[in-house]
Amino acid sequence: MKLLLDATLCQGYGLCPDHAPELVELDEWGYARVVAAEVPPAAEEQARACVDGCPNSALRVEG
Ligand code: SF4
Repeated sequence: MKLLLDATLCQGYGLCPDHAPELVELDEWGYARVVAAEVPPAAEEQARACVDGCPNSALRVEG
């Protein structure tokens, strides 16, 4: 599974790292940055929570 970010949709709400701190972090302006695009099997649930929790649908998973 891959976690993908459309940076053009991210509005910097900063919610995603709460769901998956090992997968996503915020940059110095508060916008998301995916740090582990290839999601380990043990973190797939976190990745989905991240996607579901983004108010702007900026994140998605594939695979
Ligand atoms: S929750 Fe969505 S809009 Fe907010 S920082 Fe994360 S990706 Fe961006």
